Amino acid sequence: MSAYPFAERPVLNYVGGTFVEGDGWFDNVNPVDGSVAGRVSLASRDLVDRAVAAGRAALKGPWGRMSQAERCKLLVRIAEGIEARFDEFAAAEIADTGKSLHQARTIDIPRGAANFRAFAALAEARAMPSFRTDLPDGRSAINYAVARPLGVVAIVSPWNLPLLLMTWKVAPALACGNVVVVKPSEETPSTATLLAEVMDAAGVPPGVFNLVHGFGAASTGEWLTANPDIDAITFTGESATGGAIMRVAAAGVKPVSFELGGKNAALVFADCDFDEAVAGTVRSVFSNCGQVCLCTERVYVERPIFDRFVKALAERAEALTVGDPWSGADMGPLISHGHREKVLSYYALARDEGATVVTGGGVPELGGALAGGAFVQPTILTGLGQDARCVREEIFGPVCHIAPFDSEEEAVELANDTDYGLAAAIWTRDVGRAHRVAAQMEVGIVWVNEWFLRDLRTPFGGMKLSGIGREGGEHSLNFYSEPTNICVKL
Ligand code: NAD
Repeated sequence: MSAYPFAERPVLNYVGGTFVEGDGWFDNVNPVDGSVAGRVSLASRDLVDRAVAAGRAALKGPWGRMSQAERCKLLVRIAEGIEARFDEFAAAEIADTGKSLHQARTIDIPRGAANFRAFAALAEARAMPSFRTDLPDGRSAINYAVARPLGVVAIVSPWNLPLLLMTWKVAPALACGNVVVVKPSEETPSTATLLAEVMDAAGVPPGVFNLVHGFGAASTGEWLTANPDIDAITFTGESATGGAIMRVAAAGVKPVSFELGGKNAALVFADCDFDEAVAGTVRSVFSNCGQVCLCTERVYVERPIFDRFVKALAERAEALTVGDPWSGADMGPLISHGHREKVLSYYALARDEGATVVTGGGVPELGGALAGGAFVQPTILTGLGQDARCVREEIFGPVCHIAPFDSEEEAVELANDTDYGLAAAIWTRDVGRAHRVAAQMEVGIVWVNEWFLRDLRTPFGGMKLSGIGREGGEHSLNFYSEPTNICVKL
């Protein structure tokens, strides 16, 4: 067990290559027991402006003159720096979020490092198209595009997969030659600060990676996204926050990339591999205590296997251990007591709306220090109609609603009957149906007989309320750079 790295020292901002105090402090609360894990420096508006200015200056310094190959080497050094301090990163992520040790060690931290390696490789191998142009009047030219950085990119990230989701944007932004100002969630400031230390030690020039801590509206997040001198905004978080940021960004006509909320469906057909479908749905509903944007909250099951599936899923949910992440529990607490209030309010609303609570629906009985933690029970609901708020609104907890369907057409209609459009999972052994149904899903990502298997080269993002644009592979490289076409007469 590693100690929380910021137990004895404060979590600071990192601006222009220096760790600096802002204007006041806020507590970092450990959701496992409600204790204060450490204190965090709150960036003032002036410090946010200085971070943007430091970024602007860095574009004109050694960073701006660095070759693509040198930049990519530096990104690999950053990946190595994360790996060298793996245990500290895991301890910091667990202290901030209460997520399971297994999740932190096998997903969050390895993916944090993998993002830098992947985008270093992708940026180095990037090809820009060129065209020879022959006009009827006899003139000829060669057209080719060069990619240049956008400039200063503002990155605002959420608390559910803090290092993974922040580096998913930092790595391609730097690979494309930009500088960044990062505002991590106020709930999870620690791994971003460790990353600043890794950047510092790796020799990333001052001003290239800047970090400011604080809250969202009327605080650091808003000050950053409203700063007229940033060149683009990339954001992951709630759909409503995306709307607020878009309004602020509209004044400066800034490019935005948004990865937002979801209300994802799983379609379980009677011809599926039953055990795999149950195991996959347990993962897709309860991983990270249901706090992954890709988590399934609506499960539709073909009627002949409906009762059997509900029973099997409930048995698996009841077998999940809930408790201290360091003890190896399957599920830790939710991110905060505030979020627990929200999730419990949906558990109560489900009952008011007439749901059957198949399992869970409350708070687990945990003794000792854990009694002060933000725990909830894994919960399965049935019996609600499509119009119920619990079926329409993102809850972002360890909970799903299961409903039956009678035909493929009905399954597709139910899955698409939502304001969101992020992800879907299909469980079937019929290959033709898998392709047919997948192509009709109004979402950015479909898994067939899988969930959360990711290849960083593939497009990632959502439709409808779930986002704007795609990142991943060339989609990231396209967002984080501006192509300039050059036409040369031959
Ligand atoms: P959130 O929107 O509350 O906060 C995200 C970040 O935005 C935080 O850093 C916050 O301080 C900041 N922020 C809040 N209001 C702001 C404002 N007005 N201006 C500027 N910044 C502001 O989201 P959250 O609760 O941290 O994360 C959970 C949400 O994120 C869920 O809806 C989840 O589905 C979504 N999410 C989406 C993806 C995806 O890839 N699509 C991935 C993870 C999480």
